[in-house]
Amino acid sequence: MQIGLPKEIKVKENRVALTPGGVGTLVRRGHSVTVQEGAGVGSGIRDQEYIDAGATIGSAGDAWAAEMVVKVKEPVASEYGFLRDDLLLFTYLHLAADRPLLDALLDAGTTGVAYETVQAEDLSLPLLTPMSEVAGRLSVQAGAYHLQKPVGGRGVLLGGVPGVQAGHVVIIGGGVVGTNAAKMAMGLGAKVTILDVSHRRLTYLDDIYFGRLTTMMSSEANLRALLPETDLLIGGVLIPGAKAPNLVTRDMLGQMQEGSVIVDVAVDQGGCVETIHATTHDDPTYVVDGVVHYGVANMPGAVPRTSTFALTNATFPYVQLLADHGLDVLRGHPALQLGVNTHRGQLTYQGVADAFGLPY
Ligand code: NAD
Repeated sequence: MQIGLPKEIKVKENRVALTPGGVGTLVRRGHSVTVQEGAGVGSGIRDQEYIDAGATIGSAGDAWAAEMVVKVKEPVASEYGFLRDDLLLFTYLHLAADRPLLDALLDAGTTGVAYETVQAEDLSLPLLTPMSEVAGRLSVQAGAYHLQKPVGGRGVLLGGVPGVQAGHVVIIGGGVVGTNAAKMAMGLGAKVTILDVSHRRLTYLDDIYFGRLTTMMSSEANLRALLPETDLLIGGVLIPGAKAPNLVTRDMLGQMQEGSVIVDVAVDQGGCVETIHATTHDDPTYVVDGVVHYGVANMPGAVPRTSTFALTNATFPYVQLLADHGLDVLRGHPALQLGVNTHRGQLTYQGVADAFGLPY
C-alpha cells in the first residue's frame, strides 16, 4: 500500500505519526511511504532518517496523494481539499466536537478511522492511553514548577528535605492519568493521596503502593477534609463520553492555601474543578482566589519527542494491519472496526451521530 505521512500544521503541534523505525518496517513489508519534507522536525527526527528507512520525501500534496494517510491531529480546514473518496485516513479525529470536519469527510467520501474510538474488549481506549500517561507524569512536573514562589506558587518543595515535611499531592481520579501522576509524585518524595469512586481501582492502587500512598473514596466530604492541606491538586477524572463532573466548586477553593496549585488534566472534558478553563503552553496558568490554576488542554504537546514515540508505539500495530490488509482487516478486528467514524459518505460511529442528532 502507498502510505503518506504529512507534516502536522495545527498550531503548536510538533508530533509526527510515524517514526523512522515504523517506516522501515512498512517498507520491509513491501509498502511505500511518502513523508512530507520536515514532518519529523518538531520531534527531533530529520528527513534523512526517514530516507535511510526507505521513505521518499515529498510535498504535502505528495503525502496526501497516498492510499492511506497517517496523521496525529485532525485535518484543519486548509487540508480539507486533500480529502477524497478512495482515501483511508488514520488519525485523531474528535468529530463529536468538529462539525465542519465531519461534513468535509462525509462530502469527500473519505474513510476516517479515529484513534480515539478504537476500543478494546475491556472497553479501554488503547490509542488514548499513551497520551494520558504523558499528561499524568507531566502534571506533577508542571505542578512542582508552579509551586515555586517566583512563579506565583506557595514556595513548597514537593519532596521536602530532611527535617521538613514533604508537600501533599492530592489526585482526583486513579485511572491512567492519576496513576502516572502518583508515580511521579511518589518519585519526588511527596505525600500522595488519591481519590476515586471505583473501589476496585482503589483496591488495586492500595495493593501495589500500600504504605506509599493513601487511597480515599471520592466524595465531597473527603475532598473538603483534604483541601486545607493540599499543596498540589491534580484532576484526572473521566466519565467516558460525558463532561467531567465539577468536584471542586468555587467555594471549596477558599479552603485551599494561598499559592497552592491545581493542575486539572481533565480540562479537555470540561475539567473537574469549577473554576478551570483551557489554557495554552504559552500562558498556562491564572489565579482564582489565590489558587494557581493550570489548564493546558494539550499537555503532551510540551514533550513532542516523548509523545511521538509513545503514540506511535500504540498506533503502529494498527497502521501495519491497515497497510497489510486494507479495510478487509476490520471484519476480524472489532477494536479497529470501532475506530471507523466515516465511510463512503456514511457516518458510522454512534457517539458522533448522537452529538449532532444525526441518523446512524
Ligand atoms: P481513565 O478512564 O483511565 O481514569 C479516569 C478515572 O476517573 C477512573 O478511574 C474513574 O473511576 C475515575 N472517576 C470517575 N468519576 C470520578 C469521581 N467522581 N471522583 C474520582 N474519580 C472518578 O482516564 P484517563 O486516561 O486517566 O484520563 C483522565 C482525563 O485526562 C480525561 O478527561 C482525559 O481526556 C484527560 N487527558 C487530558 C490531557 C491533557 O493534555 N490535558 C491528556 C491526556 C488525557
